[in-house]
Amino acid sequence: MLNQIKGLHHMTSIASDASENNYFFTQVLGMRRVKKTVNFDVPEVYHLYYGNEHGTPGSVMTYFPFQNAKRGAKGTGEVSETVFSVPVDSLSYWQERLSTFAVQEMSMTEQFGETRLRFANPDGEHFALTEVHNDTREAWTGNGVSQECAIRGFHAAQMRLQDAGAMSELLGFMGYEKVETLGNVTRFSVADGIGANTIDLETLPIVAPSEQGAGSVHHIAFSVQDRSAQQEVRKALLDTGYQVTPVIDRDYFWAIYFRTPGGVLFEVATNEPGFDRDEDSAHLGESLKLPTRHEKLRPFLEKHLQPLND
Ligand code: ZN
Repeated sequence: MLNQIKGLHHMTSIASDASENNYFFTQVLGMRRVKKTVNFDVPEVYHLYYGNEHGTPGSVMTYFPFQNAKRGAKGTGEVSETVFSVPVDSLSYWQERLSTFAVQEMSMTEQFGETRLRFANPDGEHFALTEVHNDTREAWTGNGVSQECAIRGFHAAQMRLQDAGAMSELLGFMGYEKVETLGNVTRFSVADGIGANTIDLETLPIVAPSEQGAGSVHHIAFSVQDRSAQQEVRKALLDTGYQVTPVIDRDYFWAIYFRTPGGVLFEVATNEPGFDRDEDSAHLGESLKLPTRHEKLRPFLEKHLQPLND
């Protein structure tokens, strides 16, 4: 069993409109845009990152906004809900705030003794907020949500699978322990994590596989401290028979990817070097940052990428 993985690092999803996506995460959810760059493989598309004050690993929701992308079809083999941590006694504030912004698909539910305020973003992607005691991660207050209520980072991610057996084994191998099963949902947690420590697996044997599109999670990334921990994880996965990519430089972290048995794409990303590697922490996310190999495209991209207002 591995002990290098410390919870979630980031989640990356597909959106259909950059400006709408930016507005939702910064102005509705009050998160900080911590990086404005492009998809390194498709540089005419943004890669937008939203997180807490410092964009700490375990807080960062990232997007590829493919303009007018067709909405995905929900089903099995995907992340079905991303849950953010908010302070105790803040859910009523959030319920009112989200209602004011006419956020869709809001409901209050209970899972493993936690109350979740569920909602969807403009592309129909499902999220929830849940109150977590003593989450010491520093929230961003620059977009009008106070420290008493603002999002700390991720609490959990939920996946929907036809058969959770192989995924349970994989999570166990990655260092997660089974906490509890209630109905068709099993909760896993990693010890000594960075705050985003929980994974819930929902088993739905007769639900068809999802089709990826706008509103779908593209991949889920797990956190390791540094490149040597990542190498240990990579070797262990290869030895177990997973097809793992070489280490890829994503400028703000180093990444490896592998496809899991249920169909979900996993990444393992390093906590180093972080989002302040190429801009001052007081100005994270403000200017367009490009990887060196795409710097020559800057004049084109600055002219053609959709302007972001906030
Ligand atoms: Zn990623």
